[in-house]
Amino acid sequence: MSAIRYLSKSRVQSGRQCHRRLWLEVHRRSSLAWSPQAQARLDAGSRFGELAQSLLGGGLLIDAGHQEANQALAQTAAALTRPASEVPRLFEPAFEHEGVRVRVDALERGPDGDRLVEVKSTTGVKEPYLWDCAIQTWVARGAGRPVRSVAIGHVDSRFVYRSEGDYRGLLAVTDITAQVEALVPLVADVVALLKQVVAGDEPAIATGAHCSTPYDCPFLDHCASQEPAPPAFPITVLPRAGKLLERLAALGYSDLTQVPDTLLDSELHRRIALVSRTGTPWTSGALPDLLASLPYPRHYLDFETVSFIIPRWLGTRPFQALPFQFSCHTEAADGSLQHTGFLDLSGAAPMADFVEAVLAAVGRVGPILVWNRGFEAGVLRRLAADFPRRATELEAAADRMIDLLPIYREHYYHPDQRGSWSIKAVLPTVAPDLDYGDLAVSDGQAAQLAYQEAIAPGTPPERHTELREQLERYCELDSLAMVQLVRHWAP
Ligand code: SF4
Repeated sequence: MSAIRYLSKSRVQSGRQCHRRLWLEVHRRSSLAWSPQAQARLDAGSRFGELAQSLLGGGLLIDAGHQEANQALAQTAAALTRPASEVPRLFEPAFEHEGVRVRVDALERGPDGDRLVEVKSTTGVKEPYLWDCAIQTWVARGAGRPVRSVAIGHVDSRFVYRSEGDYRGLLAVTDITAQVEALVPLVADVVALLKQVVAGDEPAIATGAHCSTPYDCPFLDHCASQEPAPPAFPITVLPRAGKLLERLAALGYSDLTQVPDTLLDSELHRRIALVSRTGTPWTSGALPDLLASLPYPRHYLDFETVSFIIPRWLGTRPFQALPFQFSCHTEAADGSLQHTGFLDLSGAAPMADFVEAVLAAVGRVGPILVWNRGFEAGVLRRLAADFPRRATELEAAADRMIDLLPIYREHYYHPDQRGSWSIKAVLPTVAPDLDYGDLAVSDGQAAQLAYQEAIAPGTPPERHTELREQLERYCELDSLAMVQLVRHWAP
């Protein structure tokens, strides 16, 4: 087994989440697998971190790479020999104490001591951040720095991008000194324990809720592959069942088909258990009449949106869901179907054209059928606020939306859904010919990534065309899926 001499802040955090995760990070890095979505989140966070350096007021960057720890320590030590009046703020300074090495996002030197700032690309302070900062504070103090206060620099969700290139106000700085000071005395014992973990054999820890709390673990495939195959219907297929799952697990249940109804406390959970036991799909019997009563023309509508931590277009906010695509199938009383699509891959703000196109597609008459109304109606109402000239029509369109998801949840369940009413889970159970399986873009997150790749300046034209086709196929399938989910019961 290879010996390691140092832990990093992120490895201490990994070890706090799961000893096995830390051990694997040190000894089996080849089993680590970040999803493209997770990698994209890391990249976006890095871009926000770079912008935050200028928003904090600039400073001296310790530019040795993260693999060049000794060089970073030497650069930091050299910088700190200069007076604070010359170098009041350092970015990425490196410190080491008792075998733990950290890089601090920002260290501000003041007359009464240092302020340590940890930058996070989220909209507030979360519990794991306090530990991040406690570890850094413990190391920095151990290395001789007089850390007096600690803060989190995070995204201010109230920020609106008003002037090209001006992001002042995007970064909020929240003091967390008191919470961090409460944790600092605990760090030494945590570090000592984790050093023992690293020096030992791979911990025998089974997968469970801790694999995604507080962060998704990149070793999940590795660990799951070493465990016995789970039951066909594990208790985890029960939706919204956090505490119940803990109770069932404590009673020794892992297979839902073995759980007696008396231990399940909602009608929905009992239905899912019954269907899982019998393998027979369930419908309430009211579904055909309910769907047949929908008037014509019926507009089946699906949106795709993108959000940016650093707003890209004037008038937008961080994390705002901005629509760049829709697909609408309009069904007439005679059964004829007309498709309208919109996709803007120009890289310019797509919202204004989207508004005109979507209002033209859904007209003024007929229900607008969606899957998960909260999302689509929320996008339209946000657009109504941003485009007051079209607010009345947009609000009216939002009011016409009918959500197929709760209708299906109340009246239908198939064992293959495995506790999910996402359209991707329900569709194959009634229309096996329509399948998302062979699509290169097959969910909303993949659509966001495809969009961002398409609008990137360096994307070659052939790839741009390919991404357009993938996005069009995916979004069109989403609205066509809803047509099939209604026609199946009310042809
Ligand atoms: S997948 Fe779960 S059990 Fe395996 S290392 Fe990660 S957190 Fe630990």
